[in-house]
This record gives sequence, C-alpha cells and structure tokens, in this order.
Amino acid sequence: MPDRDVGHRGLDSGRVSLEDTPLFRLCWPRGQRFCPRCRGLKIYSLADARHRCGACGYTFRDLTGRWIGNGALTPGQWIDLAGLFAQEASVLAMSKALALSYNTVYKATTALRFSLAAQSLDAGTLFGPEHLGRFLKGRRLAVPPRDEAGLSPSVFGILEKQGWVFIDLLPRLGPEDVFHFGLQFHLRLARLGSMVYTDRYRQYDGLILCADESLPLYSIRKSRDPVHLDRMGGFWDFARSRIKVYKGVSPGRFPLYLKELEYRYNHRSEDLIPLLLDCLCAFMPE
Ligand SMILES: [Zn+2]
Repeated sequence: MPDRDVGHRGLDSGRVSLEDTPLFRLCWPRGQRFCPRCRGLKIYSLADARHRCGACGYTFRDLTGRWIGNGALTPGQWIDLAGLFAQEASVLAMSKALALSYNTVYKATTALRFSLAAQSLDAGTLFGPEHLGRFLKGRRLAVPPRDEAGLSPSVFGILEKQGWVFIDLLPRLGPEDVFHFGLQFHLRLARLGSMVYTDRYRQYDGLILCADESLPLYSIRKSRDPVHLDRMGGFWDFARSRIKVYKGVSPGRFPLYLKELEYRYNHRSEDLIPLLLDCLCAFMPE
C-alpha cells in the first residue's frame, strides 16, 4: 500500500457511506436534504439511498446534479483524489495510488477541473453553449474522448491585481485576431510550445491561447526583448513552469487548465483539499 499522505487516511473505499464523511456536510450544509429541483424540504427516503421530494416528486441521490456525481469513485476515493490533486500528482500517479484505472481518474480530474472553472467570476460566459457549456447534458458531464474538430481555440486575457489573478474568456476575440494584431499592429507575441501569449493588450497584462495546427505558430520569432508577462513575476512565474509540462493539452481542454491555474494561484496560501471538495460538491449549472 503506497503512503498517501493526504490527511484523510482510514476512509477505506467502498465501506463508508456519504453520511460518515465530510462530503455529506459539503453537500447539505445544514445537515438537511432539500430537493435539487424545487428546493422543497419535505423529503422521503426510498430504498438504495434514493430520496424523493414530497412537493414535486423528483427522485434523487445525495450526489445527483453535482460535479462529484460524475465518475465512479466512492466518497473515500474522492477525498484521496482531492489530496493528490492538491499536490499536483499526475493522473498516472493518482491511478497507481488509488488503484483505479487511468480513465477513471482522468474523468474524475476532468470533473474536478470543471468544478473549479464553475467557481470563476466569468463562469457565466465560460459555461455558454459555445464554450464549456457544450460539455453539459442536463446536469451531467459529457466530454468526448477527443476534441471536436474545427473548433476555434478560445482567447483569454490575464490580469493580475494586488496578488489576485483574473483570467477572462474574451468571447469576441478569435485566435486569428491575435495573430493579426501581431502582424499588423505590432502586438508582440511569444510562445511556450503551442501556447501563444502576448504583450499588454488593453487592460490585460497579456492575452493567451492554445493554438492548433491551423495557426501560423512558425511566425512567432523569439525576441530579445521579453513581453510584459515575462517581466512581471507573480502569476506568470507560477503558471509558466506548469504550462511547460502541459504537452498533450488540446485547445478544447486548455480553458480548464487555465482556470485551474487561476484557482490554484488565488488560493496559493490556503489548504486546497477542503476547497476542492467544496467545489466538487457544488451543483452543476443547468
Ligand atoms: Zn422538488
């Protein structure tokens, strides 16, 4: 048994019910179930850990409609996974430590990343039908194993203020606009693998996107004069070393990784495990 120092040992998977874990209070902060559909408080318990709303008749489980309801992990495994994710363990390392398949852990970490993105200030735009919202079917995650072809990479603006970073989706700006500014308006571009970032743009410290093969990455030359982000330290120092190891990240999934960086940076001095579990237990947007 590997030593998993995640602070929640003893929650042996499978035998522990949700009520006996901290997840129960995260799902039901007042210790009382309510209907996820109509918020009714008159709830009847059925067999198989299901519950029914006395007002609207909706039948649900404790994890129905929540991020944590995606994936086949037990409460104990979710808690262990949050601990390993907090330490930035790879999916492979997590699957070994949890004795779960790579795909199971990959899907669970995807649900966790979605739950972090849902906390961000621009979640309303980010979860629109053109962006992350296209992966939601009702209150379920439906992420295709491969990214859809022909989808234009999203452009984000990075803004750091007083130790907080904001990474905003800029829905009106396409990747071709960024390259166009680079060619015509002397907005300097830099790259890290297929991640393209820029010098200051309007109120932002820089723009960032994950380019696909259709974009002229070769046109970005290394400049002796670093762009603003490379000089400012703070978030970009934190992010750069992490982005460097995102080798297999596609343009479709890049927003999830950016939002994870935003979350980690803004909570860098806090214990991440309870925060991650809280995000996981939140209801998914409709
Ligand atoms: Zn109801």
